[in-house]
Amino acid sequence: MNTMNAGKVTLVGAGPGDADLLTLKAVKAIQAATVLLVDDLVSHDVVALAAPGTRVIHVGKRGGCKSTPQAFIEKLMVMAAREGENVVRLKGGDPLIFGRGGEEVEHLRSEGVAVEVNNGITAGLAAANALGVALTHREHAHGVLFVTGHARSGGEGPDWRALAAAARDARLTLVIYMGVGGAERIQRELLSALPASMPVAVVQRASLPDERQCITTLGDLHGTIAREQLASPAVIVIGDVVGGVAAAADAAAQARTA
Ligand code: SAH
Repeated sequence: MNTMNAGKVTLVGAGPGDADLLTLKAVKAIQAATVLLVDDLVSHDVVALAAPGTRVIHVGKRGGCKSTPQAFIEKLMVMAAREGENVVRLKGGDPLIFGRGGEEVEHLRSEGVAVEVNNGITAGLAAANALGVALTHREHAHGVLFVTGHARSGGEGPDWRALAAAARDARLTLVIYMGVGGAERIQRELLSALPASMPVAVVQRASLPDERQCITTLGDLHGTIAREQLASPAVIVIGDVVGGVAAAADAAAQARTA
């Protein structure tokens, strides 16, 4: 390989949707890209920052066709970098929080391709900010766990009972990604150690103009999602840190009915 011509791949965090939440580094990388590989949850406003003439390839499943197989995406990145392209892989939120960014970095390194990662604001943090909730408020929590609600195909999902016990015993806030589809099971298993009254918030499309927030309790999580028809992409936040906004929502509801 001619190293003079070697391109590189930058995994860029596109944030939760609002293009104003990109880092300056991300904007510069997008503008300098010659090839842009774009995931599903990346908003149009972010892709629009690319320079004219950039080859933009959408590789997500929401574009109408089935998701581009991961192996193909990885091959495409390696090929383009070897051809000397400046490849930017745009991923929703932070590239290394879920979404297979870690696998992509490993693959590129194993192929000897130069790879860099630019952070983005992950959906869990954007959701907390939208709610006005401090995930680690020291009166209520010692820390926060980011957990996937989705099991790898053929693989095991998280041990919800162990997580519930940890959240209770170690006072941890749970932030669940990809959890709306499996909410019934998540609710049932978390109730093994957490009370039904535990405050919960669901934030759909955080930071976007059509963002939605619902405040509920663990005992009514699945019911709320079904009634309100909440859907992906959404983040579920569970813990006493949600209590403040839950109380404010209750007061507002009471004022409306009074
Ligand atoms: N790397 C991404 C997460 C990819 S997994 C990140 O750091 O945010 C995809 C999941 O992220 C979705 O199923 C949803 O749970 C969450 N998500 C992504 N964008 C979101 C948004 N704008 N609002 C709420 N949840 C979002």
